[in-house]
Amino acid sequence: MKRAIFPGSFDPFTLGHYDIVLRGLDLFDEIIIGIGRNSTKKETFPIRERLTAIQKIFANEPRIKVVMYDSLTVDFAHEYEAQFILRGIRCMQDFEYERNMAEANKQLGNVETILLYTRPEYAHISSTLVRDLYSYDKDVSAFVPNHLK
Ligand code: ADP
Repeated sequence: MKRAIFPGSFDPFTLGHYDIVLRGLDLFDEIIIGIGRNSTKKETFPIRERLTAIQKIFANEPRIKVVMYDSLTVDFAHEYEAQFILRGIRCMQDFEYERNMAEANKQLGNVETILLYTRPEYAHISSTLVRDLYSYDKDVSAFVPNHLK
């Protein structure tokens, strides 16, 4: 059984995240989406709202579980007996960050990170962009999964 965690803030969950999860299903038997409490990031959407929203998106996909966590990512992976961490990459900046995290998580907990490149049409999509639009009452439907529109 190949199990991966997909950790992130998902504040909010975007089409970019959605695409990484769907493609991850071709690689893993199960994916645990973990909404982390990140002390350095201020939250816009309450974490419980994010949890319910993402659970709704994947309600018909038994291979996906959505949970919250507030531990170290490797401890979260061990708790769910996941051998892999799934993450997405949009640009060089993401790459530098992900490489450091991947090395740390390998060393700390022997958990392997699998990185998927964003699809070009989603490369510009970020939670920050959606939050900005949302704060100005703009339509965000082009950037989030159907269920969140
Ligand atoms: P974090 O705060 O841990 O970076 P995010 O919710 O911002 O969490 O992102 C979770 C993961 O999804 C990260 O690996 C990030 O690079 C990836 N990601 C975010 N947006 C996109 C996108 N548009 N395409 C592909 N991957 C993305």
